Amino acid sequence: MKLVFASNNAHKLSEVRAMMPAGVEVLSLHEIGFEAEIDETGETLEENSLIKAQTVWEWIVESRKSKVESIDGVFADDTGLEIDALNGEPGVYTARWYKRNTDRSADRTQTAPLTEKEIFHANRAKALRELEGKDNRDCQFRTVITLLMNGDAPLNDGMIQVEGIVRGRIAEQEFGEGGFGYDPVFIPEGYNKTFGELPAELKNHISHRARAIQELVKVLNDGLKD
Ligand code: IMP
Repeated sequence: MKLVFASNNAHKLSEVRAMMPAGVEVLSLHEIGFEAEIDETGETLEENSLIKAQTVWEWIVESRKSKVESIDGVFADDTGLEIDALNGEPGVYTARWYKRNTDRSADRTQTAPLTEKEIFHANRAKALRELEGKDNRDCQFRTVITLLMNGDAPLNDGMIQVEGIVRGRIAEQEFGEGGFGYDPVFIPEGYNKTFGELPAELKNHISHRARAIQELVKVLNDGLKD
């Protein structure tokens, strides 16, 4: 079975490929020749992962005659940090939380766009600011994966959504330099170190993304058995 993962992120691709059952080949967007930017205009993680999968699936159907042969399906992921004391914020706005609800003129005074590392840092600073003085620092990372399959494939025609959650809390300050994004301020439940301090192998085993991929693999294994 050939599935496209709607991503070009090398780290995510290798994580996904390592967990897939034998007989499932995973292709990146780059490998199928899809180069467009996808606008994530949804209001939920579910909507955004569906938008990504649908956009790629429609493109494959359009170009199938010429470029892409025998693709059985497409899946896409979307992740959010959901903080209990902030009613689930930043959620769908996790990637660029630092500039949400800020004065737009502040953006205009900036000379150069922020690098990815600066964005991650600004996001973490916002998380620490928003939770300053709050006792309840509980939160979770949630990943939603949407899989769209070809009607002829072993699984049902249509859409399947799975999710993976890791509960935890926001630390009082940054610890560790490992991982990316919010890792230095996220302490997973059952541990007293942040994802930035814990070994990558451990994180990759218990993370929201790993759990969502495990769910996807279950669905694929069940489908492949039929
Ligand atoms: P995406 O949907 O995977 O692109 O994730 C959206 C945002 O969530 C990223 O830009 C990061 O800020 C954050 N994020 C996703 N996964 C992780 C993680 O494993 N650790 C820390 N932050 C993450």
